[in-house]
Amino acid sequence: MSEKFADEVGEDDTVGFWKQSRKDKRRIFDMKRQKEKLGGGFKCSHCATFVPINQEMGTAHRNHCNQCLWSKHVDEKTSGDRQSICQAGMEPIGITLKHEGLDKYGHEKLGDVMLVHRCTGCDKCVINRVAADDPSDTIVSIFDKSQVLPQDIKDRLQKEGIDLITTDQRPMVQERLYGK
Ligand SMILES: [Zn+2]
Ligand SMILES: [Zn+2]
Repeated sequence: MSEKFADEVGEDDTVGFWKQSRKDKRRIFDMKRQKEKLGGGFKCSHCATFVPINQEMGTAHRNHCNQCLWSKHVDEKTSGDRQSICQAGMEPIGITLKHEGLDKYGHEKLGDVMLVHRCTGCDKCVINRVAADDPSDTIVSIFDKSQVLPQDIKDRLQKEGIDLITTDQRPMVQERLYGK
């Protein structure tokens, strides 16, 4: 593009257009969010199940479906900020354990079982705590599928500090999910 042409188009107009559409999108999110609050749940964008959000069940911050465990890319920087304009479905691709720092012997402490979600729109990967009513069988099947993930995805997760649960950790995870 020549400089003259760029001047004619007017960069400010382009910025204005994007600002506008971002604002519109924001408004739609806010409306949806309000509806979710009122309805006490949300409809899964992947399997269409209505997922109740219930304070008593400790799932007030649930961000994934309690059937298929898919999530939606709604948060941008921090969990619950609802700032993302991506809005694509996030597939549960693996299981990891939350890093809880080091114990007094300098060994790494591993905490709660977490789901690894990968956005089907923008490829972003995030981890989310498993909720009490997530079906254990589905979690185990996600673990099984994660064992055959393409190596480049495994490498990338590792680079981001997400260590997928390995086969030798499987009994420990099953014990946590099903109890002894
Ligand atoms: Zn679902
Ligand atoms: Zn995304």
